[in-house]
Amino acid sequence: MKLLLAFSRRGQHDPGREPVIARVVKETGVLVNVEKANIDSMAGEMLIDVPDADAALVRQRLEEMGVTVRVMENAIARDEAECVDCGACISVCPQEVFSFDEEWRIRVSSERCVLCGKCIQACPHGALSQQG
Ligand code: SF4
Ligand code: SF4
Repeated sequence: MKLLLAFSRRGQHDPGREPVIARVVKETGVLVNVEKANIDSMAGEMLIDVPDADAALVRQRLEEMGVTVRVMENAIARDEAECVDCGACISVCPQEVFSFDEEWRIRVSSERCVLCGKCIQACPHGALSQQG
């Protein structure tokens, strides 16, 4: 399961200075895969992937450390009414989130998404958007 973490660098618990991910891994024994991190001088955002069965525990521990946690179950949403199954999103996505099914309709495996945003820009029909 993917969790999107947000934190302020002015806060008491600052993942940019404190190794919160390392602490969570050490304290819970859960393997955490960091898929994306954007951290500047004021704030940060991080996308992590954890086993579904451990997500609640990891989330609880992070929130105790002052990190805002959002579950990204459908990171990328596709408006079926707008989509024309052109396949442009297939060619730009680095994670192979999109594929054609047997009837050449677009299939979305959003659990692989790392929120790079390339597909949103590439879609000629504005059919894709980011959750939240
Ligand atoms: S790029 Fe947009 S219109 Fe084309 S298949 Fe993907 S979601 Fe559908
Ligand atoms: S945001 Fe990036 S990783 Fe996610 S589906 Fe779009 S192109 Fe793929």
